[in-house]
Amino acid sequence: MHELKSKIRAVQVRSVRVPMAHPHQTAGGTVSESPLVLTDITTDDGVVGHSVVFTYTPAALKPTAELIRNLEPLILGEPLAPAELEQRLARRFRLLGTQGLVGIALSAIDMALWDALARSHGVPLVNLLGGVAKPIPAYGAVGYDGVKGSAEVAQQWAKQGFTGIKAKIGYATVEEDVAVIRAMRKAAGDSVAIMVDYNQCLSPVEAVQRLRVLDDEGLTWVEEPTLAHDYAGHARVAREAATPIQCGENWWGTLDMQHAIDAEACDYMMPDVMKIGGVTGWLRAAALAQTKGIRLSNHLWPEISAQLLCLTPTAHWLEYADWWNPIMNEPLEIRKGLTNLEGATGTGVAWNESAVERFLT
Ligand SMILES: [Mg+2]
Repeated sequence: MHELKSKIRAVQVRSVRVPMAHPHQTAGGTVSESPLVLTDITTDDGVVGHSVVFTYTPAALKPTAELIRNLEPLILGEPLAPAELEQRLARRFRLLGTQGLVGIALSAIDMALWDALARSHGVPLVNLLGGVAKPIPAYGAVGYDGVKGSAEVAQQWAKQGFTGIKAKIGYATVEEDVAVIRAMRKAAGDSVAIMVDYNQCLSPVEAVQRLRVLDDEGLTWVEEPTLAHDYAGHARVAREAATPIQCGENWWGTLDMQHAIDAEACDYMMPDVMKIGGVTGWLRAAALAQTKGIRLSNHLWPEISAQLLCLTPTAHWLEYADWWNPIMNEPLEIRKGLTNLEGATGTGVAWNESAVERFLT
């Protein structure tokens, strides 16, 4: 058998807290910084693969970094073979389970390994996996910013050429939700696709009631109207609503996605590359979506997701976010509302070291 030459020599893990240029309001509270764990995997021929994972709360930052460090002995000296290592590590953690922080740590390793493999061939991930770079339409995010604030931010995205905008809603009344949607449409123009995100804040009954009103607003989708893992609740909302329901950012692995598909929980899906299991997990998710013709978008991770969407037969929208741009060497470029992968290497993730140093914790 052909022996893979490149072996894993070292794993370096760092934690940073990256402040957001504009604190992001959600129905569940304000996000003002990104706690991130940066993983660098070096091979014995000197290639370094990078990955970033997001712990949402600083309380999970150190434990996640520690967990990733503790995986080092399991992969040191092993060949640079991410799909094989993903299976081995999944077997190792079967008894504990691969959700939560363990899942995040495994994805950090998976994404860094794929990055290293693509870099060792001097190509972007999309080419390594047999695909080609394609422009994907991107949408910009509007926080829970009220009528005036949402309209202002929507207008800024539209001016930059974005053809889709997604706003956090879940105000006290559906009338306020509608006022925000209409103000954004007026500010951004009729040709711009408008999506809204409830961030799980409604009960299924409330969601059905609100959707009866929102169904007249021509929305591209309504995201996570109720608890992410209440597949039956989402299915009830999806059955009653004419507007497509979007879910997926909180699914841990493709098994959660399969449960959502079985329950007919939603019309569109948007896995999070970290929670779905890294590059390896995403490829499985893309295959699952393809069997049912379900349109797939991403959640955060714009650089790596822009490439993975090119490999996804049912690719839909790229969720754009610039939150981590300060530490990125070459943040994803959006040109006239479309992803532009020109010049990308590996997964597109590499560090602006001086910024990383500033935000180290
Ligand atoms: Mg969301």
